[in-house]
Amino acid sequence: MIHHEGTLYRPPSEAQSLILQATLGCSYNLCTFCAMYREKSFRVRRLEDLKSEIAWAKKNLGTVRKVFLADGDALVAKARFLESLLDELNAAFPELRRVSVYASPQSLAVRTVEEMRRLAAKGLTLYYLGIESGDDQVLSDLEKGVDAAEMVRVANKAHEAGVKLSTMILLGAGGREASLRHARHSADVVNAIGPRFISTLVMTPVEGTPLWDKQQAGGVDELSPVELACELREFLDRLRVKGSVFRSNHASNYLALKGNLPKDQEALVGYLEGVIARPGEAHFAPEWIRGL
Ligand code: SF4
Repeated sequence: MIHHEGTLYRPPSEAQSLILQATLGCSYNLCTFCAMYREKSFRVRRLEDLKSEIAWAKKNLGTVRKVFLADGDALVAKARFLESLLDELNAAFPELRRVSVYASPQSLAVRTVEEMRRLAAKGLTLYYLGIESGDDQVLSDLEKGVDAAEMVRVANKAHEAGVKLSTMILLGAGGREASLRHARHSADVVNAIGPRFISTLVMTPVEGTPLWDKQQAGGVDELSPVELACELREFLDRLRVKGSVFRSNHASNYLALKGNLPKDQEALVGYLEGVIARPGEAHFAPEWIRGL
């Protein structure tokens, strides 16, 4: 059997993937908005246990083309451990096309380019990276643990190793006052990285997080759907990327958009301008559908 401990999180695009918990929890676990791994202490799982799960999956699941290594930042595990895990996956699943992982900026800082290159050669070719914001003040408020320059530096290590990046920006993370600055600086950081995939989430206070406590004390300035559309318009308009896919399909978004950049950039910005001009006609997701 595949052993899943605690709540399992994965990116929307990994819905069809085999999910293995290579590590449990998040080794950083301090971001103010993140409730995902609060209940777990970080640890690397035993390779022998993972080998048993892979053997079970080989026997019971048939063809496996994609694998996602959970939990929050499995890239932080030792490169030798990850290489052994990838060897086992490649031996078990001849049709395996891609292995992916969440990569915190802290885990990208500890892995060398050479290690990432070796792991990519064995199939670990996509990292999901929560940039959240390109604004230093917002990053500091979120306790992300890095500033914008460090975020760009570590992300580009992955590119140097030939790994694709799927990045997330947290709309509304700067509140009303920093909305424009957050949008512009986030676009600048994304431009400096040039990721293959760019997506947005909407900052949503979740119980059990410092952000929730701040909201309960009246300290969170949450943006309305129209204000979020303005922020997203500013962000998209300022992007200068080539060959990136944009998506706002995470459940926390009020508007599910998708396009290839730069081809669809003008249309996406135009659509948002229509939403801002005529919010009554916009198809915002109702609150009961949204989630984080
Ligand atoms: S690095 Fe990622 S998983 Fe860890 S606390 Fe921050 S947002 Fe959550």
